[in-house]
Amino acid sequence: MPELEQTDILIIGAGPVGATLALALRDSPWRVTLVDKRPLAAQAADPRALALSHGARQLLETLDAWPTRAATPIETIHVSQKGGFGRTLMDRAEYGLPALGYVVRYKDLAARLQAGVEVLPACECLDETGLVSLEPEVDGAVATLERQGQTRRIRARLVVHAEGTPGDDPGVQVDDYGQQAIICDAIPDQPHGHRAWERFTPDGPLALLPLEQGFSVVFTVPPAKADALMALDDGAFLQALAQQFGSRFGFTAVGRRDRFPLALRQRRELVQGREVWIGNTAQTLHPVSGQGFNLGLRDAWQLAECLFAGGDDPGAASALAAYAASRRLDRRGGAFFTDQVVRLFSNNVPPLRWARGLGLLALDLLPPARDFVARRMIWGARAWP
Ligand SMILES: Cc1cc2nc3c(=O)[nH]c(=O)nc-3n(C[C@H](O)[C@H](O)[C@H](O)COP(=O)(O)OP(=O)(O)OC[C@H]3O[C@@H](n4cnc5c(N)ncnc54)[C@H](O)[C@@H]3O)c2cc1C
Repeated sequence: MPELEQTDILIIGAGPVGATLALALRDSPWRVTLVDKRPLAAQAADPRALALSHGARQLLETLDAWPTRAATPIETIHVSQKGGFGRTLMDRAEYGLPALGYVVRYKDLAARLQAGVEVLPACECLDETGLVSLEPEVDGAVATLERQGQTRRIRARLVVHAEGTPGDDPGVQVDDYGQQAIICDAIPDQPHGHRAWERFTPDGPLALLPLEQGFSVVFTVPPAKADALMALDDGAFLQALAQQFGSRFGFTAVGRRDRFPLALRQRRELVQGREVWIGNTAQTLHPVSGQGFNLGLRDAWQLAECLFAGGDDPGAASALAAYAASRRLDRRGGAFFTDQVVRLFSNNVPPLRWARGLGLLALDLLPPARDFVARRMIWGARAWP
């Protein structure tokens, strides 16, 4: 039996949310251990691009983790539906902001956060380290970890789960969308002008996010169509993309394609004894309107604030209860918003198409309504009354 080591906070999962929490705890009195089952270099192969809100930028700047040079600003967002009338345009100028949001590659954000974590004096970061078991105790939990055949046992006063999208877990409610997201880079035949496009189609939403000189594409379709799209050569795929998007402009090149199955996964309880859940393992949303990491970032930030306010013991029940209560509105709001948008827009039912068109027109013509939506995308729950 290996010797029992001690830490204050064990964070399982060094993805962007786990790493953000480690950074947010940098001025705390606690020793933090951050573990990830993958080699950290594996994050450089993650194909996702993330749309981050202006609020997310502010939080990351506070942690000196904003990847300035790797971020492409979004100045306007154009929302429309395929085969129906109505469209809405949101413009940064209306909100007095340098940008409505930014697009960053997952790998660039992860690298920036990792660089910050590595120099923290009170944080040990262990990659290629899997969690074998977790034994809860009254005032902590003992984790058995394995790294390259070596076992370590660490006792923590608080265990934070940041492992990303959960698999089968009775504590998680799953609603499958019957959609998959194909993601890739695509080069348009004209400059993107820092405009993001969200186009709703009966197959699912199609998003074009300005990234560097091209677009990061999130092309959502039912699984059988995803199989067919993945099998196409680049030329045929670009034609399919242009057909779904419409004729505003064309595409000249496309990068590697990857796909992700989509479901809404919501953990019923955020806190259990001295364990707490943040980021995608707490809630995994549909990527429409790019809410997932923005929400996970606020989870990490809020958890750090509640722990600071809770006194010496990082696993104090009152601090964890305060965290769960403080996240309720933001989590529910984010899940409800993305879920309703997907369900309302991913069909071709004529009355719904007309209602959607009227809704998009109303958003465009009524600044207060547009404001309501835009502010929640920019600030999350901080914009709720
Ligand atoms: C197609 C697509 C597009 C998206 N677009 C956006 C967007 O535009 N904007 C946005 O905000 N969000 C977006 N998201 C969501 C975003 O990717 C996630 O919300 C975000 O990556 C969650 O970060 P995380 O750290 O919680 O989880 P992850 O990024 O999944 O990281 C989890 C980490 O935990 C590790 N791990 C897992 N299990 C264990 C274990 N047992 N032991 C140790 N380590 C473990 C993993 O190796 C990994 O490194 C998108 C998602 C998809 C699928």
